[in-house]
Amino acid sequence: MRKYDALVVGAGAGGLTMALILAKAGRGVLVLEKSRKPGGALGSFRFSGHRLDAGFHFTGALQDGGLFDQLLKSLGVGDRITPNFLDPDAANIFRFKRSDIEIAFPYGPERLRESLINQFPRDAGAVKRYFDDVERVRDNTPALDLTTLFEPPSPIPEDSITLAAYLRHITRNKILRETLSALIMCHGSAPSEISMADNSRLCVGFYESVATLEGGGSSLSDALLRELEGYGVEIRCETEIAELAKVADKKVGEFVLSDGDIVEANSCVFTINSKSIAELLPRDAFPPAFFQRVDSFECAPGFFTVFAKLDDGTAPVNAASITSEYPVDDINALALPGWNGPGALAVTHSRSAGADIITAFEPIYWASVSKWSASTTGARPPDYHRWKKRKEHEIVERISRIFPSYEGRLSVLASATPLTYRDWLNHYNGAAYGVKNKLGQYNLAGQLRLRNLFVAGQSAFLPGVLGTMMASVIVARTVLGEETVRNVLDL
Ligand SMILES: Cc1cc2nc3c(=O)[nH]c(=O)nc-3n(C[C@H](O)[C@H](O)[C@H](O)COP(=O)(O)OP(=O)(O)OC[C@H]3O[C@@H](n4cnc5c(N)ncnc54)[C@H](O)[C@@H]3O)c2cc1C
Repeated sequence: MRKYDALVVGAGAGGLTMALILAKAGRGVLVLEKSRKPGGALGSFRFSGHRLDAGFHFTGALQDGGLFDQLLKSLGVGDRITPNFLDPDAANIFRFKRSDIEIAFPYGPERLRESLINQFPRDAGAVKRYFDDVERVRDNTPALDLTTLFEPPSPIPEDSITLAAYLRHITRNKILRETLSALIMCHGSAPSEISMADNSRLCVGFYESVATLEGGGSSLSDALLRELEGYGVEIRCETEIAELAKVADKKVGEFVLSDGDIVEANSCVFTINSKSIAELLPRDAFPPAFFQRVDSFECAPGFFTVFAKLDDGTAPVNAASITSEYPVDDINALALPGWNGPGALAVTHSRSAGADIITAFEPIYWASVSKWSASTTGARPPDYHRWKKRKEHEIVERISRIFPSYEGRLSVLASATPLTYRDWLNHYNGAAYGVKNKLGQYNLAGQLRLRNLFVAGQSAFLPGVLGTMMASVIVARTVLGEETVRNVLDL
């Protein structure tokens, strides 16, 4: 039986980062990946010669000295990643359809404050207060700075109030409140669910800068994979854990794999959805309350995504911005399960094989597709296809209303639903951001009751690629010890 220092379950941003830290620390690592290829939500696929990004599209904090920039450099992959920064004056454009209001949302802390004060002159005090509070949250969150990463966090009041309640407290201006809530698209929890502090931790990087990656998300997974190759890390695709066996002394003795192999490991780090982890854990090794807790976790929504090509000769509009449309001035209602009707829609532009590619995302919950959950890719029933075509058409029409010059000039290349994400990316219930980040809910993170099992991944700290990679650094400390992680990452 082969013995590894560490197993890593999942080869997305979280798993590849974890494997790299472990390998740099001299550990022998085996990565298990259920899909045919590694990368997870960083991956892309080809359609009619065009590269289409399956998940990740843009990130914050990649400016020189930003947290993401520093992290990539510490991991030794910084020089293989080229950010393409979006329009600093309007990286995001929020369109509130019912009120017919369009808000430009720049980046760069000063530029952002000034722009919002200009757009909401009567609420200058609330804008200032909001960004002061965001900065205070950041300054009181050691994990958002690689130099203070392992210092204990101190409790702050923003951890005990939801974003929605906080915003109601600082301003009566509804459109300002919606504007300051709009980036929840980057984590999927509603303003009435997430704390002001966690929303700030997630958004602060996007307030500094917003960038896509040259070559898309796969440029990041490729860079991590190349680095891992140098350390001889073994990645087994189409392989998962079938059983955690020989549990004794609060440790898993043997990991039975789906390819029939049985291995031993000093530690095993899961970077997959907590609900999928719970399905693997031996029931008698955990108290019932543990499983009840995981059962109570609510998954974030997934996306209905449309990938379309803009006909040659049509000039792209606001291509360096992400344009989001809200059909009603109530992002909270749009973000909670049960919303009926068109949801929020985020539209991005990219270039591939000489063409302009439009990718539009509408968050939708598993409940919208669960009646077809028994079907698999390539064998879906006709009513699913009819529903999907209708939704595709609805989204193309919405894009054409947002950008009138695109009318009749968009050719749909592909579309995806939470079922697609479940079957291609192995996302539990197609949830884009794993388990929601809710005030008062304690997601699984770090060491479990079986002491050689650990949890990292997007629900352990903050969702999004940066938050997920930071979760690996934080959990690596529990696996390897602080000194080793500091040495490995040169902190
Ligand atoms: C459509 C979409 C758009 C997004 N856009 C952005 C964006 O623009 N910016 C941003 O920052 N974030 C974005 N995100 C979120 C971001 O991609 C994730 O937060 C992050 O990539 C999660 O990384 P991860 O390693 O935790 O999970 P994943 O990338 O999902 O990796 C987990 C891996 O584990 C594998 N796996 C699952 N179950 C098993 C098992 N039992 N055994 C072995 N392997 C298993 C999966 O196949 C997968 O490869 C988006 C997500 C989606 C779905």
